[in-house]
Amino acid sequence: MSGSAFPGDFFAGAGLNRQHVFALADLPVGILSSLQPRPEERQLILLGHAGRRLWDCVQAAGLPGEHPIDDYCRQTIAGLFAEHLPGQPYRLAYPGDTPVGLQALGTLAGWHHPSPFMIGVDRQWGSWFAYRAVILCATDFAPTPVVEQRRPCLDCRDQPCIAACPAGATGTPFRLAACAEERLRPGSACAYGCLARNACPVGGEHRYEEAQIRHSFAQSLVMLRRFAGEKGG
Ligand code: SF4
Ligand code: SF4
Repeated sequence: MSGSAFPGDFFAGAGLNRQHVFALADLPVGILSSLQPRPEERQLILLGHAGRRLWDCVQAAGLPGEHPIDDYCRQTIAGLFAEHLPGQPYRLAYPGDTPVGLQALGTLAGWHHPSPFMIGVDRQWGSWFAYRAVILCATDFAPTPVVEQRRPCLDCRDQPCIAACPAGATGTPFRLAACAEERLRPGSACAYGCLARNACPVGGEHRYEEAQIRHSFAQSLVMLRRFAGEKGG
């Protein structure tokens, strides 16, 4: 593999400032089996955003529709390939219908460290980052070195996230049913945001704008309500 330069500045300028290139040959079988790579695909590019820039870019793009962040990411990636890699085929595994273990990829990249409230944390960004795209392609970029860092929770004596959760859902294991029940409760302070996440001081300067937090929690609340409705018959 010759290792050509990854156009990271393009993505970073568009708010996709977390990037990791994997050689497919180096990925565990469990991840590869769900991706079902095609013979010509040699690399996986994991893109994420950290901090507030992506949301500003999405707002500026003014895309209509229910999922403006996903639509913006699709559009940005198409623009990158058209401008920097013309003729290079690529396949978007995420967002899309392909089952992808995002946290497993984040762990391999060194981005994900488990927290008591289920969302991953790291020392720089806290929990204020997210996975935005998984691209499969035949590129020959130099694979990205793993981010080596210690799990922040190991140095957090007071663990304010645990005290902040009104449902006692935080911890190991995370009590997903208790969290869902709390979020569905009329008047819950967790309907459109996670109090535990807000209480974590790590990366606090990168905390999303309220509008972005509300946007993503509104989407998960719709799914929770649908699931609860289906269960209730
Ligand atoms: S408050 Fe402490 S224990 Fe909780 S996620 Fe943040 S670093 Fe980890
Ligand atoms: S959303 Fe609320 S109930 Fe769920 S983990 Fe966060 S603080 Fe706890």
